[in-house]
Amino acid sequence: MKISMVSEHASPLAALGGVDAGGQNVHVAALSEALARRGHHVTVYTRRDSADLPERVRILPDLEVVHVDAGPAQRLPKDELLPFMGKLADGISRDWGNRPPDVVHGHFWMSGLAALDAARRGSIRIHVPVVQTFHALGPVKRRHQGAQDTSPLERQWLEPSVARSVDRIIATCSDEVFELKAMGIDTTRISIAPCGVDVHLFAGDGAVEPRSSAHRILSVGRLVPRKGVDLAIRALSLLRNAGFADVELLIVGGGDAAALGDDAEASRLSAVATELGVRDQVTFRGQVPRGAMPGIFRSADAVVCTPWYEPFGIVPLEAMACGIPVVAAAVGGLRDTVVDHGTGLHVPPKDPAALAAALARLLGDARLRRDLGRAGQERVRVRYSWDRVAGETERAYLHTLAACADSRRLDPVEGAAL
Ligand code: UDP
Repeated sequence: MKISMVSEHASPLAALGGVDAGGQNVHVAALSEALARRGHHVTVYTRRDSADLPERVRILPDLEVVHVDAGPAQRLPKDELLPFMGKLADGISRDWGNRPPDVVHGHFWMSGLAALDAARRGSIRIHVPVVQTFHALGPVKRRHQGAQDTSPLERQWLEPSVARSVDRIIATCSDEVFELKAMGIDTTRISIAPCGVDVHLFAGDGAVEPRSSAHRILSVGRLVPRKGVDLAIRALSLLRNAGFADVELLIVGGGDAAALGDDAEASRLSAVATELGVRDQVTFRGQVPRGAMPGIFRSADAVVCTPWYEPFGIVPLEAMACGIPVVAAAVGGLRDTVVDHGTGLHVPPKDPAALAAALARLLGDARLRRDLGRAGQERVRVRYSWDRVAGETERAYLHTLAACADSRRLDPVEGAAL
């Protein structure tokens, strides 16, 4: 198949851990590579966010990234990109010329708009099937972030319109299906394919980052309030009161380490730690390149993922793949990926006391940590390899192509145009 991916803000080539560079970048990169390895021809279209970027970057013989001129050639917050989606669609359809792909797959609601726009242009004589993965949904974000949600107002009607207009939606977890259903979307048009893990990079064997004899708790991700990193800091002080004073919290993510002093969320978290008297137990590592992540995961006794909400969450899978137990807030995709008392422990969201209790249980029981870690590795191996996820995605594409071909047969006007 000839496949076009559209990922307006999340380039597969970007460094991870900054405010707008996280799971979606990993997802688009790894899914595209796995599809290319399965024999498909994949092109990823993303917005040019630096004047230095070449127009095309070939990653594999059958995978390339195309940087489309759409708005200023500089990094902009993703919530400011809506005005440039028409230009992104122009660039995509120009690149297609008269040889459109078999399927176009939009990532995030704005890319869905550009994908639909490019696919439905009059210049293209055939119906290009559009598949959409939302990665995050506006109603969920609004519910949790309220006035702090910086999404453009138009998201409220454009995102549901994308959901209604595309040929198929790929949800990444069951919670997302419920949310889409609540938006009035027909669930027969939804497939589920989770995010995956690079099981060759993230594995139990391999280098381990040296650490002190203190227990190590690890938090990995973009430094934004909704990731709930402050809960891990609050749990540290509760753990200390419970007799676990020898515990280090390593916080990875949030831009270049040298510039963390200027990062509002890093400063807020540091102030929380100082106020609770645990600042000496907390290390801010800043952004870490992907290749160094497995060694850091392997050095931890437990990985904490306690976001307010989480559309999917790749970090817990990476931890599980490395054999490390996860303490996860029971929200969104984490309810599917982390099995409570199987591969980690669930805690209620925004509950530092429950988090501290779960961590105390793990830190006090090496055997439990080992058993949960082993089960996590096994779960990732059988369920979350990118090859398996790419296979599920491929099935969703084929299903979409067949459904579109059927509807064309039933539609005499479009059928005649072919
Ligand atoms: N990540 C990284 N270096 C960092 C911080 C994060 O490589 O300094 C990676 C992390 O390993 C994971 C991704 O960024 O692969 C974050 O994905 P997740 O789905 O957990 O969160 P999102 O950013 O999508 O909300």
